[in-house]
This record gives sequence, structure tokens and C-alpha cells, in this order.
Amino acid sequence: MGMRLTSLVPLMIVAAMAVPMSSQALDADYSHYVSPWKTPWSYQGPRGAAHWSSLDPAYEICNTGKAQSPIDIHNARKAHLPPLRFEYKSEPARYVINNRWTLRVNYHDAPGTGSFLVIGDKRYQVIQFHFHHPAEETIDGKRYPMILHIMNKSSDGQVVGVTVLLKKGRANPLFQSILKYGPATEGQVAVPGLDVNPAAMLPRDKAYYRYMGSVSAPPCTEGVLWIVMKTPVEVSQAQIQAFAKLFPDDARPPQPLNGRLVEESD
Ligand code: ZN
Repeated sequence: MGMRLTSLVPLMIVAAMAVPMSSQALDADYSHYVSPWKTPWSYQGPRGAAHWSSLDPAYEICNTGKAQSPIDIHNARKAHLPPLRFEYKSEPARYVINNRWTLRVNYHDAPGTGSFLVIGDKRYQVIQFHFHHPAEETIDGKRYPMILHIMNKSSDGQVVGVTVLLKKGRANPLFQSILKYGPATEGQVAVPGLDVNPAAMLPRDKAYYRYMGSVSAPPCTEGVLWIVMKTPVEVSQAQIQAFAKLFPDDARPPQPLNGRLVEESD
């Protein structure tokens, strides 16, 4: 029987057959999709962003925390911030996940290996990246059509989120791959041979804003350092529309600043 590589189902079967038994055992934790959330939530309606705290005690901080994300960035204070060094490299994606609210690629590199964001002498390993439509962070009230979030984590547990503002322009090849393989419904698809490098969606100019916030979806964990790249990156109108068809609105509204300092690299 011939295999049609354009169809996702045969791809999943090929992946299962091509993996030797030994690595299949290592793969066990990730080869079946499991929702990251025990209690379902939504962006709109009775389970929407205004009600997350009431859905599950684990989500309590979502509506009671004082350092939530996203925010509108305004009145940022110029500061001599450390330069960012992106040691992101091309790596096999293994799976593209539709977790009900976004398309996401998870990383499973062993500690100390893989891709890193380096700030000063501290190294943050890439753990996943995903998208939002429309943008979550706004700049002086301006909302871009989309954003990319790249989540990075140090060995001592500090999480740094990198936000890349996405504007309408030329198609981005990395985003195209994610859209091509991203499942239309909740679940994951194996993508043997697909190498991804989130550096392909970073702006050349590495000027940035930074502030302390939270994970922007339940459980809304605080203590996340957010780096918002000032220069947007282009994706095409067709790409925005393809994502919007799956996720018409997966953006949490801006949260109160509550006196937090927003800094801007000079
Ligand atoms: Zn996000």
C-alpha cells in the first residue's frame, strides 16, 4: 500500500513503525496526547478569563494575583538591560500539539542540552513554544494580530517567557510548518523529520521590554520574567487566517499592572 505523506494519519503510523522498541519505551511519556489541564477552562463565557479562579483551587491566583500576565506595555523605563543571547538551534519537533487553545511544540531535551536563552551568565533551556491570536501583550494599547511565546527555564526553575509580536507581511517558513502539521482538533501529531528552530521567528534587532508576570493561562503561576521583543516579525495574512480558523480568540485580556515596573532596553 502506498503511503500518502500529505495525510497526517499515515504519518502517525509511519512514526510508530519507524521507532525501534528501545526508543519507543523512552518515548512513552510523550507518544500519547494528555491535556495539560485537569479542569477545563475557556477564554470566553462562563469558564472565561474573568472566572478562572472559581473553576479550580489550583487556578486561584488567576483572578487574585497581583502580578498577572499579559499586560499593556506603556511608560516603560529605559534601563541598561543585559543583552540577550539566543543559542537556539534546529532540533526535531517530534510532535505538533493542539492543546485546545493553541498549537504548541514541546521540548524534551535532557538538562543542559538543547536550545538556550542566555542572559548574563544564566542559561534558560527552551521548554516549549506556542502562539496566540490576537496578541496578548499590547504596546501602548496597540494589539498585534498574533504573538509567539517561547518559554525557557533555568536549572533552578526560573521561567523566562519570550514574546515575539507578529505582524502582517511575508509568510514565515517555521510558522508554515507548524500550521501544516498542527492538528485541527485537540491532540498531537508525530512529525518525523521536522526540524524546528524558534530563532527563525526572532527579530534581528534584539531590543526588548521586560517585566515580572505570570503564565497567561491557568494555573497562572507567577514569578515568570517576561521579555517582549520590541521589533515585530512578519507572518502572512493567509497564515494568520489559518491559525484564526482553529483559534478565533485565544488571548487573555491585559491584566492590571499593580505598580510593577516595566523596563525597556536602551
Ligand atoms: Zn502563551
